Amino acid sequence: MPLRPQEAAGVGQSPPADAPGQAGERVFVGLGANLGDASATLADAVAALAALPGTQLVRGSSLYRSAPVDAFGPDFVNSVVELRTSLSPAELLAALQALEQAHGRQRPYRHAPRTLDLDLLLFGQRECITDALTLPHPRLHERAFVLQPLLEIAPEARHPRLGALAPCAAAAAAQAVVRLP
Ligand code: AMP
Repeated sequence: MPLRPQEAAGVGQSPPADAPGQAGERVFVGLGANLGDASATLADAVAALAALPGTQLVRGSSLYRSAPVDAFGPDFVNSVVELRTSLSPAELLAALQALEQAHGRQRPYRHAPRTLDLDLLLFGQRECITDALTLPHPRLHERAFVLQPLLEIAPEARHPRLGALAPCAAAAAAQAVVRLP
């Protein structure tokens, strides 16, 4: 039985600020899947993120079920994890994309269902827009399936331009997102 993200990460057990191995930047990654055994895929992905070089898993959210937004197919299972990493944003994005590929991610058409979708949501308070990477993630602040798990594990989370994210979640509350037991 694979661990669920919050079991793997120890939800609610914040490491002390001076915990060893907590160097690096505070990063949030969004996970989603709507093909195959989505919960098991997300548990595998959390374990793989924790094993990335220079990276520690700080905590993981509960799993949530959400109706597809900008995607086709069945409902998604979503979660968010907080990492500390000394990887650069480009290195971490490459690792996320390799992990998607390792889980059989295919892109037969735009918005196709996906075995695993990994989004780099926040990388510290960095901002960038390149062809390959936009930080913060451009749709982070309008998607309830990202905001609910993110605010579960980091209620004080801030967007570098928009500030506190909690009001964004209130604005997105009409979107159907259910926390799984
Ligand atoms: P998707 O089809 O949703 O997995 O989108 C992946 C594409 O979005 C890739 O081409 C990425 O380079 C690009 N991308 C831009 N910004 C981000 C981000 N913050 N997190 C993940 N992918 C991103």
